[in-house]
Amino acid sequence: MNNHHWTHLKLDHSIEEMGEISYSLIERLYPLCRSITGEGTLETLKILNENFDLNIKCVATGTQVFDWNIPKEWNIREAYIESLSGKKIIDFKHSNLHVVSYSYPVDKVVPLAELEKHLHSIPEHPDWIPYRTAYYNETWGFCLSEKQRQTLQDEHYRVCIDSDLKDGHLHYGDYFIPGESRDEFLIFTHICHPSLCNDNLSGIAIATQLAKILSSQTSLNKSYRFVFAPATIGSITWLHQNQDSLHNIRAGLVLAVAGDAGPLTYKKNRNKECYTDQLVEHVLAANGRPYKTVAFSPYGYDERQFCSPGINLPIGSLMRTPNGCYPEYHTSADNLGLVQPEYLADTISAYLDVINIFENNAIFLNQSPFGEPQLGKRGLYRKTGGENIERSILAKLWVLNLSDGEHSLLEIAERANMHFSEIQVAAEELYSTDLLELTT
Ligand code: ZN
Repeated sequence: MNNHHWTHLKLDHSIEEMGEISYSLIERLYPLCRSITGEGTLETLKILNENFDLNIKCVATGTQVFDWNIPKEWNIREAYIESLSGKKIIDFKHSNLHVVSYSYPVDKVVPLAELEKHLHSIPEHPDWIPYRTAYYNETWGFCLSEKQRQTLQDEHYRVCIDSDLKDGHLHYGDYFIPGESRDEFLIFTHICHPSLCNDNLSGIAIATQLAKILSSQTSLNKSYRFVFAPATIGSITWLHQNQDSLHNIRAGLVLAVAGDAGPLTYKKNRNKECYTDQLVEHVLAANGRPYKTVAFSPYGYDERQFCSPGINLPIGSLMRTPNGCYPEYHTSADNLGLVQPEYLADTISAYLDVINIFENNAIFLNQSPFGEPQLGKRGLYRKTGGENIERSILAKLWVLNLSDGEHSLLEIAERANMHFSEIQVAAEELYSTDLLELTT
């Protein structure tokens, strides 16, 4: 006989409070200049390390990871565009978005026509500064609002970017919470964006809350892993370094763009059948609020790597408004006003619902399958007959009928058109009698 432990997650804070706590972490991390490497990214991991014992890994420049190599480490101290009379027009001190990430160092006087080739702005949003990167192209550049750009009227300007691109390291953080089973749920979030909130300080902050909750439980059925890494090169590096244990991953989510006002959106796995799709679609349909599901496509966040054909993990992405689908995306307007505690809380709540099903879902076997077992003599049936059946009893009948060793509780909930929690309550009651046993 196998013992089944029913997990009821203990929460130290209400969902609303967790939204507020996540927002505070976003405020703290917002000023740091992150990129795919460098001090701002490492500092971010060190701040997360205050919440739990994050395993911070460093991988040296030049290391080959599948088809990629770890790039040089980029660090920046200051950057500005200055008039020849010494007036600073654009200053990195005011916004770390002003410099194209991975700009190589430059300090020279340039004609305006040449400077223009290195400038990025958004004419349709004249107050916003765009976010641009040049990780694998050796160049330099500045991002500025269209209004700032229009003020550039002189023939020459001095440009200075005090940065360096040297052999160094790429850093990522890995936090593993072991449970009774090696079956693992992976939550991945990218950490490479500078002062941008929805994409993706929201993901970092929510993953931190979830990791804190799971690490404070006295016992868990399943294992959980949180990976905080730069997008693309970071997930590829993590996958390369963990190839031997990827087979433990049973489900997982890429957590990004998770704090805006849009409805929850689930991007499905590349395969037609995927356990994560089942888990998330059940939660979204059951919580009664508007949501969207979108089919897999090989663009977006790090699901691109987890769903590459050679990796093919059962991972999807649960977010709010997808990348590129909101006007503030990759601009200075993705700021502390765009994300709000209530939306962060709503995303946390959905993730906890998914985790709860992952924790408690199992396949049971009805121990009295010849006709219906007599529930009344076990105190599990109503005292008077005739009226319509109560949902709680109907749930028990569904569990007994489909606990033939072939159907999980989640599949039973879907067939019964009931919420997993209703089916779980019924299964817990039946399991406390002689009627239900866990399959091996
Ligand atoms: Zn992004």
